[in-house]
Amino acid sequence: MISLHPYQPVFRDCPHCGENDLQSEGFLFSGIHVMHTFSCGACNGKWMETMPIGHTIDFDLQVDSSTYEVIKPSADYNWLETQLEESLKSGNVEKLTFERSKIHDVKKAVIINCLDNCFGHVFTKLWNACIEYDGYAIIVLIPKQCRWLVPGLVAEVWTVDIPVSSIQPVMPGLHEEIKKAISDFEEVVLHPAYVHLDHLKVPLQKLVKIPRFDLKEFSNRSPRIGFVLREDRFWLDSDMLEKAYLACRKFKVLGRFRFVFLWRQKLLVERFYKIISKEIPDVEMYVSGLGNTGKFIPEIEDLRVDDIHSESEIERNSIYGKTHLILGIHGSHLLVPSALAAGYVNINPRYKTAHWIEDTVLPYKNRMQQFLGRKLDQKTSPALLAHHVIRILSDFPYVYRRLNE
Ligand SMILES: [Zn+2]
Repeated sequence: MISLHPYQPVFRDCPHCGENDLQSEGFLFSGIHVMHTFSCGACNGKWMETMPIGHTIDFDLQVDSSTYEVIKPSADYNWLETQLEESLKSGNVEKLTFERSKIHDVKKAVIINCLDNCFGHVFTKLWNACIEYDGYAIIVLIPKQCRWLVPGLVAEVWTVDIPVSSIQPVMPGLHEEIKKAISDFEEVVLHPAYVHLDHLKVPLQKLVKIPRFDLKEFSNRSPRIGFVLREDRFWLDSDMLEKAYLACRKFKVLGRFRFVFLWRQKLLVERFYKIISKEIPDVEMYVSGLGNTGKFIPEIEDLRVDDIHSESEIERNSIYGKTHLILGIHGSHLLVPSALAAGYVNINPRYKTAHWIEDTVLPYKNRMQQFLGRKLDQKTSPALLAHHVIRILSDFPYVYRRLNE
């Protein structure tokens, strides 16, 4: 835990001139990051250093306070460094609306900073709020869209009303709100916001609030399949499409060419449905997720939405707890659906291999983990995907019996 109130300074050598043992002057609660601030009397250099929380838990990023350039960049953390530099340099963000919701009066608190521009990171940082901390009540800081996930035992919930995808490493105005809020407490510390807790030790139902699929019911219910889609992650089943997609992202022209990827994805999803419904005539299938461009064939129920609102998320997600298999492309927000459905099949683009475990969570302790949680390559065809789904639906009774003998 890191002491924010009262603030506990740290000591560093100047990264510009090497002057020894300089004391940090304070901190900046900037957004995704919380940073110590320094200045050097010998060379007049000023810099900030990220605190060890979230994705900077194992190393610190130092950034020059005048040029906003990262000092000593590292290829390993390029994505974090680029985001931080761009955020500092852009200087413009959406207007920040900070809301403080007090549930219990407490004197000592630990802040779990769940601000992040990736939903999966917000969700997994929030797992830390399911654990009790001796002597400290919990404050969760989270994007308002994700308010519904906060577990009941926390003392306060602090929200910023900015969509998850627009959350920044540095959000002007946030620091002043946090400083004011923490002055009401005797002591406030900052939680490390671990991003990869053991999901089997986390009571996920406290977060998702909905009962997950009961495996005893698997064979009694009509098979239901949900395809979770997004409009910035796609099923790219060829090298050419993947290259085109990555080029569009690199040159920031995805908006102009999105229709090509959406068209291809819709075609593949509908082909998959046609194969599966021939083999399993009573199968029910829906598409869900963020973004509702275009129309699917009427046999596929369309549950997609154009925006996420915390107030309706529990109801919107309740369908997943009644779904045999969730299908989706890595990055299309499968964490909550896969935590609720009986199983999943996740299609993985090669550029996501380094993030293999981040998109799904399936709380089985036995071999159901492999049987009902499958990851396929991005070049998977509709026929191969259908093959896996048919095998899961057909073989489940046998596997379930064997595992329960
Ligand atoms: Zn210096």
